[in-house]
Amino acid sequence: MKSNQSNIIKSCECGSTEFITELNSYDVYELINGKLEFQHSEIIDDEINFFCRNCSKELVNADS
Ligand SMILES: [Zn+2]
Repeated sequence: MKSNQSNIIKSCECGSTEFITELNSYDVYELINGKLEFQHSEIIDDEINFFCRNCSKELVNADS
């Protein structure tokens, strides 16, 4: 089965071709004595999602 077409990713509907993954990670802060103190970073790395850098719309791959 040829899969070339299923790997084509379309640009965002807003026209941007730049995508980010920042929404996939978190810096966790805890409020301690009235101050936000950094605890740790959480990265959801089992599934990487891409978001448009311009409008933050989630990238949706072209249908196979
Ligand atoms: Zn966009």
